[in-house]
Amino acid sequence: MKNSKRCFDFIADIFLPNRCLCCNNVIAWNESFCDECVLTEENIYTDASGKSFDEAFSLYSYDGKPRDAVLSFKLGRRTELAGYFARKTFENYFAEKEKTNECIITAVPMARKKQRKRGFNQAELYASEIAGLTGIKIDLSLLIHKNDGTAQHELTAAQRREAAEKAYDTAENAHRLDGKTLILCDDIMTTGSTADCCSKLLKVLGADKVCVLTICKTFLEKNE
Ligand SMILES: [Zn+2]
Repeated sequence: MKNSKRCFDFIADIFLPNRCLCCNNVIAWNESFCDECVLTEENIYTDASGKSFDEAFSLYSYDGKPRDAVLSFKLGRRTELAGYFARKTFENYFAEKEKTNECIITAVPMARKKQRKRGFNQAELYASEIAGLTGIKIDLSLLIHKNDGTAQHELTAAQRREAAEKAYDTAENAHRLDGKTLILCDDIMTTGSTADCCSKLLKVLGADKVCVLTICKTFLEKNE
């Protein structure tokens, strides 16, 4: 961090105390979380066999403090968390990856009505921060969400698959992706149906390989 930025943060803290990104308690000016809420990365790789994606990485399992932090990000509108999660992804996932010009970052689109209500798509914020840190090109105009259907968490695994297949499509003016490696970002992977459907569409556009990055992976559904 640049000295001028640190100095600004320090002075700003006197007037606007720094707060834990998860529980909102006042914390030291140079911290992101309080001692209670500090997150430990788990670096989970999900089995990609039988899926359209080639690799899937999640920072945490969707439980305890990581779950609280993701809810704080989405519902508590602590959008600064996009930068925190991206930094952790950069340190834990990208550290050992070879960077090429053949990579493009994208994100799972959100239903328009839902995005209007929330004011942002957390997957896009996370993707944008990752693009900023890695220097990899980002293209958020490849996929579209076609409807404003039922919230995914209310559906069974089989219903999720069906809903995902109906929900996503390639954008009308999407570029061809021949020979490219796509990095598809989302907040949570549950059954993997959404990631699978979006990856399939990216491959229809010509993508050679799709790597899925999510903040959390849920292990709650056993009947995947
Ligand atoms: Zn806290």
